[in-house]
Amino acid sequence: MPLFDLRTVILMSSVMPGLMAIALFSLARSFPQNIRGVRHWAFGALVVSVSAILLALRGSVPDWLSILVANCGILFGTGLALVGSQLFFGRRPRGRFVAMLLTIGAAGTAWLWLVHESVAGRTILITGVLTVLYGMHGILLLRVGRPNRPALSVGVLLLAESLVAGARCITAALATERLPDLFDPGSIQTFYLTAGAAFSLLVTVGLLLIATERLRTELERQSYCDPLTGLLNRRALALAFEDEQERAKRNGGVLSMLLIDLDHFKRVNDEHGHDAGDRVLIDFAQRASEVVPQSAYLARWGGEEFAVLLPSLSLQSAYQLAGAICARIAEPVRRPGVSYTCSAGVACLAAAEATIEQLARDADNALYRAKHMGRNRVEICDRAFAA
Ligand code: GH3
Ligand code: MG
Ligand code: MG
Repeated sequence: MPLFDLRTVILMSSVMPGLMAIALFSLARSFPQNIRGVRHWAFGALVVSVSAILLALRGSVPDWLSILVANCGILFGTGLALVGSQLFFGRRPRGRFVAMLLTIGAAGTAWLWLVHESVAGRTILITGVLTVLYGMHGILLLRVGRPNRPALSVGVLLLAESLVAGARCITAALATERLPDLFDPGSIQTFYLTAGAAFSLLVTVGLLLIATERLRTELERQSYCDPLTGLLNRRALALAFEDEQERAKRNGGVLSMLLIDLDHFKRVNDEHGHDAGDRVLIDFAQRASEVVPQSAYLARWGGEEFAVLLPSLSLQSAYQLAGAICARIAEPVRRPGVSYTCSAGVACLAAAEATIEQLARDADNALYRAKHMGRNRVEICDRAFAA
């Protein structure tokens, strides 16, 4: 008696992608609106799973289910997964091309079953279409998946799956005898069936890992990012401060900080509405980013207040930079349709004794004076002179 029954193995490994699909569905709900494709993967995995179960039930269910529906389902689910990846990685979905392949596959399978019965013909057609779909999917993941580690592994898996499907297509085309029964033990079909089931399981697990990895990086990005302006948030600035302080301490350097506050911003909101106020905040982030150097950290400190951490920048240079930012902001703009100005306070401390709280306090004192002295100007913290 064989150690395991092939049909049972195929059945079991076909059920797994279905279970993974449930995990993918629930994961898709956690994703932000702008990340698409996970639902396509989930539907694709579910359809492939159900279809593979129908295929494994050959002989126990009507032929139209285990031949026509099962094969078309496998093609459809595989195409859906490819479109899912195109959406997930922000590529233009090639929906029409995939639909055309699926139509050829489905119509051909129906014809080769109902009109011109040919097992070899069906095998060549289905494995041919699958070779193209797996190949396109694998190449896509290898080309665009670089930042997402699991994507590269799934890309390699899909290319291997494409090779196996291609080999099956060619052997079926070259076969001189009638193809053996699907579950004929010891036949080459056995190898292809087992490989196919294993691949579909591994690829679905891989898609789940890709989605989880993306969710992790997305949540990490969101936790460091101000959603309105896209700038760093206060938490991210505190982390940057710790890194930069360590570096500056080693070099015996200084750390400078600017606090910048928009002038009469309440008026902007009152006169032009809150949305216009939001657009002004976004405009500030864009224009200030153009002025600050690459090595600086520009963050939204809160409300209409922004902070710039300037590693290794002297008080004088920090003061000049603050002046450049205020001058740039004071330039009239066509968009967002509201002209506005800002005031800045500058602080500078030796890295060895600096804390972010102290720098912010010093910069805030200077900012208070800038406001008091008429706004649209830059002031330096008194303590910085003493230093
Ligand atoms: P000053 O020149 O003294 O800084 O005056 P100001 O009007 O800018 O200062 P104030 O602190 O009185 O007003 C800040 C306003 O910023 C009040 C608050 O409603 C608004 N604000 C804070 N966060 C946001 C935001 O995210 N969007 C918008 N539109 N307004 C915001
Ligand atoms: Mg203000
Ligand atoms: Mg303020």
